[in-house]
Amino acid sequence: MPLTDKFGRQITDLRVSVTDRCNFRCVYCRSADPEKHMPARDLLEWDEFERLVAILVGMGIRKVRVTGGEPMVRKGVEGFIARLKALGVQDLSMTTNGYLLAEHAEGLVAAGLNRINISLDSLDRDKFERITRTKTFDQVIAGIDAAQASHLRPVKVNAVLVRGINDDEVEAFAEFARDRNLIMRFIEFMPLDADRAWTRGMVVTGAEVYRRISARWPLIQVVHELSETARKYRFADGRGEIGLINPVSQPFCGHCSRLRLTADGKLRTCLFSKDDHDLRSLLRGGATDREIGDEILAIVAQKEKGHRINEPGFLPPSRTMVSIGG
Ligand code: SAM
Repeated sequence: MPLTDKFGRQITDLRVSVTDRCNFRCVYCRSADPEKHMPARDLLEWDEFERLVAILVGMGIRKVRVTGGEPMVRKGVEGFIARLKALGVQDLSMTTNGYLLAEHAEGLVAAGLNRINISLDSLDRDKFERITRTKTFDQVIAGIDAAQASHLRPVKVNAVLVRGINDDEVEAFAEFARDRNLIMRFIEFMPLDADRAWTRGMVVTGAEVYRRISARWPLIQVVHELSETARKYRFADGRGEIGLINPVSQPFCGHCSRLRLTADGKLRTCLFSKDDHDLRSLLRGGATDREIGDEILAIVAQKEKGHRINEPGFLPPSRTMVSIGG
């Protein structure tokens, strides 16, 4: 049975978070204080992830993105990519902070990874260090170099813009995309930060980014699939592309095709879901593939119409981004 929710949306995309651990501590995501990590026994084993993905592929999932936490901090992630490839996943991608990418890019390609998204929130070393609370700027740039030199295509670089922190770099990021002939994506800051510091005033809208970049360089819209998160534009006079991901100012829930599987085996139907659905206890309790598939159908049927960030009384989910998987 293909996965379709009660609003008729077909579910074809899965994000799999393989760990809630991250070697960065970005200010808009994690707190400065150490948080409690999931106990190792709660994390799905690679075999368990593989089994769930196989069931989901059988139900119509075509795209799988491996994420975290930071996916590359979990040992064995390349082997996992190879297993996903062997399941016949058509579009296999990863989101990473890039820190370990230079050493892993070739291995990931050999394992079957198709494309990669790398987070980079500042082109200014000091600011990058303040945002990520690490001293890893050179390694991340080396990771982007390695991705561009590899067969991973396209290479997308993601920046979360936060007013007063890195919104002065919009044009610099556009130049980065042009110089390097890559896709630079601007993500609106969402209320998923561990410090609960998010305010609407901190959001830099995609409309502002569009206005500022197109004032310098004429942009041409690129056709996108309805379920894609980004509105895409190329530069009329040169290389590179930008993507605007506007979940706050222009929610795209009406065409959402995504499910998320957390590192501890919970299925989430929306980034902002209040509840997640426990598949781990089914896996470990001896359920058959058929029973798990039936449960997934029932969960998907209840997928939310949309997030409620812009509605009065909105409350963020209890899980923050790092433990959901972005
Ligand atoms: N560690 C990997 C990375 O840095 O890309 C993957 C996980 S990270 C949680 C996935 C994406 O979520 C990153 O692009 C990150 O910038 C984004 N993100 C984290 N917190 C966010 C927030 N509050 N609003 C918008 N995006 C956020």
